Amino acid sequence: MQNLSNIGVIKDILNRHGFSFSKGLGQNFLINPSVCPRMAEMGNAQPGWGIIEIGAGFGVLTVELAQRADKVVCIEIDSRLLPILDETLADFHNIKIVNQDVLKVDLAGLIREEFPGMKVAVCANLPYYITSPIIMSILEAHLPIESLTVMVQKEAAQRICALPGSREVGAVSIAVQYYAQPKILFPVSRGSFMPAPDVDSAVIRLDIRKEAPVSVVNEDTFFKVVKGAFSQRRKTLSNTLSSSFGVSKNQANLWLERAGVAANLRAEQLSMEQFAAIANAWEQNP
Ligand code: SAM
Repeated sequence: MQNLSNIGVIKDILNRHGFSFSKGLGQNFLINPSVCPRMAEMGNAQPGWGIIEIGAGFGVLTVELAQRADKVVCIEIDSRLLPILDETLADFHNIKIVNQDVLKVDLAGLIREEFPGMKVAVCANLPYYITSPIIMSILEAHLPIESLTVMVQKEAAQRICALPGSREVGAVSIAVQYYAQPKILFPVSRGSFMPAPDVDSAVIRLDIRKEAPVSVVNEDTFFKVVKGAFSQRRKTLSNTLSSSFGVSKNQANLWLERAGVAANLRAEQLSMEQFAAIANAWEQNP
């Protein structure tokens, strides 16, 4: 088996296949040999489990996952990588490559077909240009998965894991934490990739919640409140919610009063329970 973290091996593959990295597809491949084994181990790759990987690259993480889990299905958009993966993954019989855009794949159907009777986790070094859409589409689909372990930009990791009520919190923190319990596992420097990106990274794990942390009458309204409240984070709820829901400030103040939340607070000061109370008060009396 080739050592896919070795620069000489990578350069040989690049030359023989005439491959060039696509910036547009977020192709920064891992060359730090300590990262993929740690990601696979902390990402639930183990006997009895099926793993979905997003973006195989040359397969450096894929082989670590396949050595530990029962089966790996890897979704890779770039068809130029297929002949390379035929070569680098040739020793494995428990890997399937799906040549598609992950945002267009029916993941619920894929899990039913590919992983019957197995526990399932997602583990990936995500293409940074679509980190949030990928994470949110997986969470919103309520897939039968246990965890998502992903490499993201350091700032995105901090934002996702920021606690409600903290200065760093944003709409994405609340949205992710509604579905999962996030944790930063370890940092990864920019020099761990080829080509090196302009930013450092971190691996995070989102453990999917079995039950939502707050009781919400209508999830769409809850997320509209969260998005609206953070749309202008320096402004008060009275301002942000009146403009995002198209009501007068007076109506917004009455609505917030019914929810038991002070109208002069800003989004970053709210708890998950307060966001839920605002959304539920709207549902009772829009
Ligand atoms: N796993 C490899 C590694 O760690 O070296 C590659 C990671 S690289 C950051 C991201 C990978 O995602 C690339 O192989 C890229 O072609 C692929 N990719 C980009 N957009 C994608 C999409 N929409 N659907 C599936 N794969 C995508």
